[in-house]
Formats: sequence, C-alpha cells, structure tokens
Amino acid sequence: MNILITGASRGLGCEMAAAALERGHAVIAGVRASGADNDKLTALAAAYGSRMTIAELEVTDEAGIARLAGQLQAEGRTLGAIVNNAAILTARSTPIERLDMDAVVKSFDVNLFGPMRVVKHMLPLLTVKGASIINISSEAGSMTNAYPGDYPYAISKSALNMFGEQLHAYVRDRGIQVLSVHPGWMKTDMGGENAPTDPRQSANGILDLIERKIVPDASSKFHFVDYTGKMMPI
Ligand code: NDP
Repeated sequence: MNILITGASRGLGCEMAAAALERGHAVIAGVRASGADNDKLTALAAAYGSRMTIAELEVTDEAGIARLAGQLQAEGRTLGAIVNNAAILTARSTPIERLDMDAVVKSFDVNLFGPMRVVKHMLPLLTVKGASIINISSEAGSMTNAYPGDYPYAISKSALNMFGEQLHAYVRDRGIQVLSVHPGWMKTDMGGENAPTDPRQSANGILDLIERKIVPDASSKFHFVDYTGKMMPI
C-alpha cells in the first residue's frame, strides 16, 4: 500500500519510511523544504526507485498540502495509510509563569493543526480497503499521566487524541482505522540519547498496527495505544 508519512526527514518518520519500504510498501515521505539534509531518504529513493517518493510537505502550509493531494490524485494514487508524525517539542519544562504563548501557538500549529490539515486534504485519497490514519501522539498527552510542564507539547498531543476520537467516529463506517499512537521514548533528536527505544522498533510496531497484524482491544472506548497495540490511559 501507499503510506504517506509526515516529518520523514529524521527520527521516527525516517525509520518508518525505511521499515515500510522493507516490508514492500510504497512511501510518500513528506519533508520540509527547509529541513535537515535528507541523505538517508535520498539513499532510500535510490534503493527503492518508484516505491519511494520524497515530497515537500510542511504541515503548517495548507496550500502546499492541498497541492500535494491534488498531485497524488492526478497521478491516480490512493493511500493505504496516513502517518501524522511531524511534531515539535518546545518550551520544555517551562513553568506556566514563564511560558511564551507564541511557543504554545506554534506547537498547536504543527502538532494539532498539521494533522488536521493533512487529513482534511488527504482523506479523499484514503480509499484502500482497511486503510489507517495514525496520529503519532505521546504519553505526555495522557490526562491520567498529567505532569506540570511541557504545556505546549502535552496539551497539543491531548487535543490530537481528541481529534483522533472524532475522526474515528467519522470514518469507522468506511472501515478506516484511526489510532493515536504513543511510539515509546525513542532515541531521536527529540527523545535524546538516553531514551531506551530504538525508533526502528517503534516503526515496526506501528506498521504491524497499519497491517493489522496487531489489533488493539476492540472493546476499548478510546483509540489511544502504544506501538505494541497496548491501550494507553486517555
Ligand atoms: P524528531 O524531532 O526527531 O523529528 C521531528 C520530525 O518532524 C522531523 O522530520 C522534522 O522535520 C519534522 N517537522 C517538524 N516540524 C515540521 C513542520 N512544520 N512540517 C513538517 N515537518 C516538520 O522527532 P521524533 O522522531 O522523536 O518524533 C516523532 C513523533 O513521535 C512526534 O510526533 C513526537 O511528538 C512523537 N513522540 C516522540 C517521542 C520520543 O521519545 N522521541 C516520545 C513520544 C512521542 P525537520 O527535519 O525539517 O525539522
């Protein structure tokens, strides 16, 4: 299937692209024009040819997302999965008294409005049977685990979970699976060196969810899981 991944230049997004290609999928790897160098993606494109497309995708640019959706449509491509992975973690550990509200606005723009823009324009392409929308969330967005800090990040991820629940209610009759996924504390630029989880391991877990090799507990009211499919507290 074709899998669209946002924030594919590094970290989990890049590992998802590599793991999906290894499993025989085709990947549309969304990167920002202004992003870090994409040598790894270029190597994947060289290795996998037409199965790997590197596409400009800045999640705050709605016109750009609409353009990409139109281009994919014109090429007759359909999607089997959308992975809303791009996110930022700003104003780390800043107490509320010193919080820069611009950082909050920016976090919502990327972490919440980004996935909303992508789904708004890409949903018509999600016509493959058994398709998925995967919103990469975080345990930081769990109200049960609320801690006093990372306000912009945690609240934007919590809201992303709500968006996921609304989407689930909207598309379940079409057989589209919508999951908010905590990928684990991963060794990436965001997660840092001390993180215990290899992002490739998370990527493979998320692909097992997309391929429905892992099926989350259907009796759960909510659709927030970790990368092994275990329910997360909302
Ligand atoms: P990284 O910081 O390593 O990578 C973030 C990616 O998002 C980069 O590709 C970056 O592109 C892209 N990105 C940032 N802003 C934008 C934007 N405006 N438009 C398009 N792309 C953008 O993050 P991780 O790989 O660690 O995280 C991946 C996901 O997992 C995120 O949703 C994160 O919140 C979540 N997560 C991560 C955890 C961890 O321990 N790392 C724990 C829990 C959740 P560029 O190179 O251009 O900056």
